[in-house]
Amino acid sequence: MKCGDKGHRNAAGVLCQQNILESEIGCLWHRRSPEQRRELATRGSIEAQRQRRKRALPASTAYPVLTDPAGCRKVLGDTIQAVRIGTLHPQLGSVVIQGVRVAIELAQLELAGQIGELERRFRLRQT
Ligand SMILES: [Zn+2]
Repeated sequence: MKCGDKGHRNAAGVLCQQNILESEIGCLWHRRSPEQRRELATRGSIEAQRQRRKRALPASTAYPVLTDPAGCRKVLGDTIQAVRIGTLHPQLGSVVIQGVRVAIELAQLELAGQIGELERRFRLRQT
């Protein structure tokens, strides 16, 4: 049977759909008193915050070097590893990798500018 069959509703007012035994007065949530539920919700949100914080790198983490290929490679490797071992949330990892991608695009733009400048100078000398 469903918890809602005993009259329990969720925050939206919809009958609770948790499966329960007929002998139970409600699901894990609804068999608690309102005080117990509030306490459980608070503990849950504190734990969720703790989990979110845990999955970001500490503020003491070295500032990433994105000005040379070796620095970019290191940031990519460190980020991928941190996501793989669960110390960095994948969304944060995506932000870091996107940042590295933009740094590489900027370097390509700079290089294109330098090549263009060299070409102009070379043509000026030839004529
Ligand atoms: Zn319920």
